[in-house]
Amino acid sequence: MNNYFIILASGQSKRFNATNPKQFNLYKNKPLFEHSIEKSIKSNLFKKIILVVNNKKLIKKKYPKKVVVIKGGKERSKSSLIGLKYIKKFKPNYVLIHDAARPNFSINLLRKLIDQLKKNNAVIPIIRPTDAIKYQIKNEIYNLNRENSFLTQTPQAFKFNKIYELSIKKENAQDEASMFIKNNLKIKFINGEILNKKITYKEDVLLPKTYYGIGFDIHRLIKNKKLYLGGVKVPYHSGLKGHSDGDVILHAIIDSLLGAMKKKDIGTYFPDNIKKFKNIRSPKMMMPILNMLKKNNFYINNLDINMICEKPKVSLYRKKIIQSLSSLLSLDKNKINLKGKTTEKLGLIGKENAIACEAICSISE
Ligand code: ZN
Repeated sequence: MNNYFIILASGQSKRFNATNPKQFNLYKNKPLFEHSIEKSIKSNLFKKIILVVNNKKLIKKKYPKKVVVIKGGKERSKSSLIGLKYIKKFKPNYVLIHDAARPNFSINLLRKLIDQLKKNNAVIPIIRPTDAIKYQIKNEIYNLNRENSFLTQTPQAFKFNKIYELSIKKENAQDEASMFIKNNLKIKFINGEILNKKITYKEDVLLPKTYYGIGFDIHRLIKNKKLYLGGVKVPYHSGLKGHSDGDVILHAIIDSLLGAMKKKDIGTYFPDNIKKFKNIRSPKMMMPILNMLKKNNFYINNLDINMICEKPKVSLYRKKIIQSLSSLLSLDKNKINLKGKTTEKLGLIGKENAIACEAICSISE
């Protein structure tokens, strides 16, 4: 196993509008290049992993001994050659050269590449384009036959001696595969991975902004009123007192959504001294809140609810209530959880004089 993995992280990221080099931006909570380091270590396929960067000082973390950080050159080809020259003293059999901007390759792909090197000098992963390709020669535009076109990815795998020989000729190649093509040398193409796409633009790594909100509500139980919970009419001897129908579940959800949006509370939008809200049904109160979400480009990720009462038993109505919330909020049933909780007969709720509810939600932009 005298194999080496060279990770090129010294690119200038001209298309990537950020102050730090792109390879140092966080992607899934780690610097972009670190994904390649971790996977190559985990694969156990390499004697050394060489990380080529512009500025070694930016690497603060201590990696295992087999990871070596070296300074690269201005162009990609230069950095790759610096990497190859560095490992020459170890007399490598195989070398894989990889762009740090592709963090999503699989360890299985590494295995396949190395396996194919037994019979080939160069093994390159490719994928077929899904978009139609045109090309232009002077003023003429041509259609490129998609069946005969493919896109090359990295890691690209080589017998060390072959790639070294080509690289020291100092051609300014886009990638190592193109040097083989220029010199009419045979390449073995294998299936690449669609997920292994290159992170080129900042939009590629922007994660949706996520916010959380919490809501609480409690209403006193009174005789001769219908009981509504989560928009569902629940048969019971009492209902919830309030200016509206007293639906504690919907009120707690409304407050949690407003909280996540940083838009104050339910009382701001439905003051209980205003006549037109008298006896309003709570699903109606939910509508302007959902419009607010929409207007601000938010969507709900999930909802978790605690209903706190001695009776009625939540388990009897859970399915119905979740179904009702799902259609009211246009949210998949699997994203809604409803828990039932008693207060061990303690206090107002325990004496069956009130029902309370708390809700927490997560929304993303
Ligand atoms: Zn309420």
